[in-house]
Amino acid sequence: MKYEGMIFRPPSEADSLILQVTVGCSYNRCTFCGAYQGKSFRVKRFEEVKEDIDEVSSYGQRIRRVFLADGDALSISQKELLRILDYLKMKLKGLERVGIYANARDILRKSVDELRELKNLGVGIIYLGLESGNKEVLKRIKKNATVDQMVRAAKRVKESGIQLSVTVLLGIGGVEMSHAHAEDTGKVLSEMDPDFVGALSLMVVPGTPIEREIETGKLVLPTPFGLIEELETMIIHCQFTRCFFASNHASNYLPLRIRMPEEKEEALRRIREVLKRKDPVLLRPEYLRAL
Ligand code: SF4
Repeated sequence: MKYEGMIFRPPSEADSLILQVTVGCSYNRCTFCGAYQGKSFRVKRFEEVKEDIDEVSSYGQRIRRVFLADGDALSISQKELLRILDYLKMKLKGLERVGIYANARDILRKSVDELRELKNLGVGIIYLGLESGNKEVLKRIKKNATVDQMVRAAKRVKESGIQLSVTVLLGIGGVEMSHAHAEDTGKVLSEMDPDFVGALSLMVVPGTPIEREIETGKLVLPTPFGLIEELETMIIHCQFTRCFFASNHASNYLPLRIRMPEEKEEALRRIREVLKRKDPVLLRPEYLRAL
């Protein structure tokens, strides 16, 4: 397998084969994101992807899941994506699910029928980074999509029958926007009604514009307990049909795995207990936090 640069994947794709079909992110300007710094975006040629698929299929192992990297593989043209998925299906007989990162604009460029075509060829889950449901915060972090676009994109994925996993970022609004960010994010997540939510905490990546904002005092990060307060507010405003909400990413101080709606009240009770005691021992130690 020929990988270019660092490869990122969602935690739930830990056991998947990572197939790099694009290099970097076609947008690459979110102020907090250092994932693809220095990588010029390009779509890999089909022949390059085919070589990797041929190599892995020659091992004779049963591969159930594939994740298409890098940042927004859904930006590939429909024709090319179908070609890759077709070939994957042909070569990996045990393939059950293909996962892919996408941004709202990529999704909105596809019709429901086009998304269904992808589903029929194996795409079972799309990972979308909402980061915040607050308009002002989205603008400040240069997310390249409005709240309305995020919600429309989410609904389109749901309509196609592909599972939707949405990521949000605790702390991204700083102290100033903390409450509004958490409340609006909970409300927007409810509108999106995804199958999965992953709440991560902002980790400042050296060299990113947000690091500069913090250094100059333009953005002040919430304390660890401030982040947990955001989590509480967010969850209060989340109303889902059926969703698995996880804050167990390594960046978080309080790891939780919540089945919503049934475990919501129990999760809030736990969070409130931690906030009442404000004992650092209850939090994940700093040295264990990572991206
Ligand atoms: S957060 Fe996503 S869309 Fe934004 S720069 Fe990073 S990879 Fe690209």
